Amino acid sequence: MRPICLGFLQLLLVLFLFGSCAREALDVEQELRQESLLGEDRKGPMYDEMDKIKETPLGKKLFKGLIPIKFEYDPSMRPGRMGYVGMGVIRYSGDLESPVGPLVFHELFHVYQTKEKVVASRNNEIEAYVAQYLYYMSLEGAKKKNFWAVSNEFRAIIIKLADYARRYPEYQTGDPEFRRLYGLALYYLRQSTLYGTNTNYTEDPTLCSFPNLFLMLNQS
Ligand SMILES: [Zn+2]
Repeated sequence: MRPICLGFLQLLLVLFLFGSCAREALDVEQELRQESLLGEDRKGPMYDEMDKIKETPLGKKLFKGLIPIKFEYDPSMRPGRMGYVGMGVIRYSGDLESPVGPLVFHELFHVYQTKEKVVASRNNEIEAYVAQYLYYMSLEGAKKKNFWAVSNEFRAIIIKLADYARRYPEYQTGDPEFRRLYGLALYYLRQSTLYGTNTNYTEDPTLCSFPNLFLMLNQS
């Protein structure tokens, strides 16, 4: 009886030790997974850009409203593209135009707008391009003439809308000039290949404001 009993106790001890080890391993794994969701164990040019954004005044405000971000290189995407695909995942292709930072800011702003979801909305694009422009212009040496967005006409409207947003950091729905510019921005987007009426992008014709942008700008 005795040896069996001892054997049983040893087995219990082994099971206990194994159990606690396994639990520890699980905890470490969970921690690692969490860390990777935060992008902290990840390396790559987009993470470097994101780190730079985090240190800027606008970036600090933006990161108060983000979920964990993950960048994925996608060689099947058309060159020079970047897009938010939901759940904090931003995909990008090769040949991205420099500087890449404002483009990364644009995609991060989509995460700020819709969190885990993806919404193909022209209203959201107008707001994201205005946010991108404000970020671009906050960079050292940035020149208005070098900013590019969709088309010449759209770009000109975005710059005017951004000037409005900078001057009046609150809702502009009542202002006739703001409404006119916003309507024009929608009009030019409808005609574009990326966000036009031939794509799955939709719009809310009653929305004429930048709720997420003003939320971000007014963040302390
Ligand atoms: Zn966009």
